[in-house]
Amino acid sequence: MATTCRLSVFRYDDAADEAPRFQEYEIPYAEGLTVLGGLVYLQQRVDGSLAFRSSCRAGVCGSCAMHINGRYRLACETQVSDCKMDVTVRPLGHLPIVRDLVVDMGRFWKHYKRIKPYLIPGAPPPAEGEYIQTPDDRARLDVIIDCILCASCYGACTTTAADPEFLGPAALAKANRFALDSRDSAREERLELVSGEHGVWRCHQIFSCQKVCPKSINPPGSIADLKRAAIRHRLRRRSHP
Ligand code: SF4
Repeated sequence: MATTCRLSVFRYDDAADEAPRFQEYEIPYAEGLTVLGGLVYLQQRVDGSLAFRSSCRAGVCGSCAMHINGRYRLACETQVSDCKMDVTVRPLGHLPIVRDLVVDMGRFWKHYKRIKPYLIPGAPPPAEGEYIQTPDDRARLDVIIDCILCASCYGACTTTAADPEFLGPAALAKANRFALDSRDSAREERLELVSGEHGVWRCHQIFSCQKVCPKSINPPGSIADLKRAAIRHRLRRRSHP
């Protein structure tokens, strides 16, 4: 078993660097070392100026999503041994770089907020205080509610690269999550939004977003659902103006 591993890390400081570069490091390897563990080691023992985001270290918060050896993944869930002891790390794509592996997530959040990512019930809460769902209604939300908003799908999406105003896979999957929710009443409002110029019709169903999702969510499936629902919504509106 190797006792060291190599990390090649994207570095960029807007205030000091003319251009981005990769910096090579060799660090001690111990069984179970994750890419995030390697970055923490670098920051704490080698170079305190290295910038990256992380929080839970358990695949729950989504903060440490980055491009690792050719694919977007969570650094906390990626074993260095699975990268054959040779790791190349870049920041998330299609978002402005703040420093090193930290990107400005503002555009991602802007689109997420646009689809109103919260329940909009049509009536006041019942006397019991909860909006009740049947087990079947609840089961329709399985998997899709597991999104941790890591933005891996946003980085992998080719349309977000071409159209910064495209809502993106995570926001569209979330719109479908509420369209499927039996308690929600804003389905038509969201369908109008997602079928606009920067919505579902911009998706070319390349499936890159699905391939990288650490929670096995299928944004292209949601987008296909929304396309069908948007067509039905438009036809209904045309026959009952
Ligand atoms: Fe991350 Fe998957 Fe949610 Fe996209 S859909 S933000 S890849 S968890």
